[in-house]
Amino acid sequence: MEEEVKVVESAQQQANAPRPYAKRVQKKKVCIFCQDKIDEIDYKDVKRLQKCITEKGKINPRRMTGVCAKHQRGLSTAIKKARVMALLPYRAK
Ligand SMILES: [Zn+2]
Repeated sequence: MEEEVKVVESAQQQANAPRPYAKRVQKKKVCIFCQDKIDEIDYKDVKRLQKCITEKGKINPRRMTGVCAKHQRGLSTAIKKARVMALLPYRAK
């Protein structure tokens, strides 16, 4: 008898347990700078930098763009330099 109860309980737990990864299979993003074998990110490379900022000019997080940790660090510096040189906006309208 006791065993039966346990089985029912575990079945219920399984049904209620959240399945965060079900139906959310994402294609793995690859760092665009690693792909092109860029060591140091050029702040004049506006085309690439623009892919990593939002419409309003904010820097996108890594989880959105798939940029690796090393390049994200260089990227943020490059974007900030580009802002000083007025190649990218601090804040777009
Ligand atoms: Zn990278």
